Amino acid sequence: AYGIFSSPNPSFVDRSFSSAASGSNLIRATLFPGDGIGPEIAESVKQVFRVAEVPIEWEEHFVGTEIDPRTQSFLTWESLESVRRNKVGLKGPMATPIGKGHRSLNLTLRKELNLYANVRPCYSLPGYKTKYDDVDLITIRENTEGEYSGLEHQVVRGVVESLKIITRQASLRVAEYAFHYAKTHGRERVSAIHKANIMQKTDGLFLKCCREVAEKYPEIVYEEVVIDNCCMMLVKNPSLFDVLVMPNLYGDIISDLCAGLIGGLGLTPSCNIGEGGIALAEAVHGSAPDIAGKNLANPTALLLSAVSMLRHLDLHDKADRIQDAVLKTIAEGKYRTGDLGGKSTTTDFTKAICDHL
Ligand code: NAD
Repeated sequence: AYGIFSSPNPSFVDRSFSSAASGSNLIRATLFPGDGIGPEIAESVKQVFRVAEVPIEWEEHFVGTEIDPRTQSFLTWESLESVRRNKVGLKGPMATPIGKGHRSLNLTLRKELNLYANVRPCYSLPGYKTKYDDVDLITIRENTEGEYSGLEHQVVRGVVESLKIITRQASLRVAEYAFHYAKTHGRERVSAIHKANIMQKTDGLFLKCCREVAEKYPEIVYEEVVIDNCCMMLVKNPSLFDVLVMPNLYGDIISDLCAGLIGGLGLTPSCNIGEGGIALAEAVHGSAPDIAGKNLANPTALLLSAVSMLRHLDLHDKADRIQDAVLKTIAEGKYRTGDLGGKSTTTDFTKAICDHL
């Protein structure tokens, strides 16, 4: 329908995960309900999947209460093994306690599962008015290095260092993913977003890799845009962009800016793509501690992430049905959560979606 969530690059998809392992017609997928609003919105996805009769069997894994020495974080080794085995999963937001001295759960997942590209579609929702009605962007974020390498230390008292790592291998891999994505999804333009005028070595290498890959795709228009200018252009006229590829931190920031263009973080999904065909879908937003446990969260972003997981599994009928029901419910406007100016609870909004299935 909206052309955004068709399966990611098929050549990266290993189909050996089919239902054979479970001996039933159900496909096993890992589910991390996560923290904060995570369990509430994960419940919403489970309910919608049940009503839509999606042939998925969830293998639920919760964040542990103690550090697992094998992962050096609160994520258990078994939960990582579950994603490796199933090759497909859905993840709720995970809170990152600031400065607590253990590895972030999200970083652990990205590193251990080598989730090298994070694909973040963002498009204007029909019937939900914002300043723009023509946003249709894909942010592709390098997901394993950059400022998120976790290499920080104190040099002397009062001076700390944080290392930004950019490698040729990771940059080529995410650039290749972005161009292939553009080509296979009928997209015309790839913009590499950078700050190479200041970060000459790191962003310079990232750009060099993007240029190298661009040469292999003469049918795709390639351009380079400095990140500060990109922010201004996005806010002024988002239709100038199509597919954007960028180092980790920039992707984190730009995709929240994009979410703001279409109505907020309650709406924007994403999918992490890993080596060997792993696809771990998750919303762009975090655990929203300010509204957690209050039945106020908008489950749309996680539901649309779950839709991208279904497309990855080639379950397009189910994906279309759920996506249409979500978009119709929002367009009708009778049931909307608070972030979209409505008064519905998460459960009422979910029920309305189920009624549209
Ligand atoms: P956040 O995304 O959790 O919340 C930002 C704002 O958006 C809040 O006002 C929140 O109420 C609102 N919001 C977010 N999702 C919403 C939804 N589905 N429905 C309605 N409103 C929604 O960002 P934050 O407060 O900066 O981070 C909270 C925690 O989440 C932190 O520990 C952070 O590290 C973590 N985090 C995790 C992920 C992830 O797991 N991928 C991503 C971002 C942040």
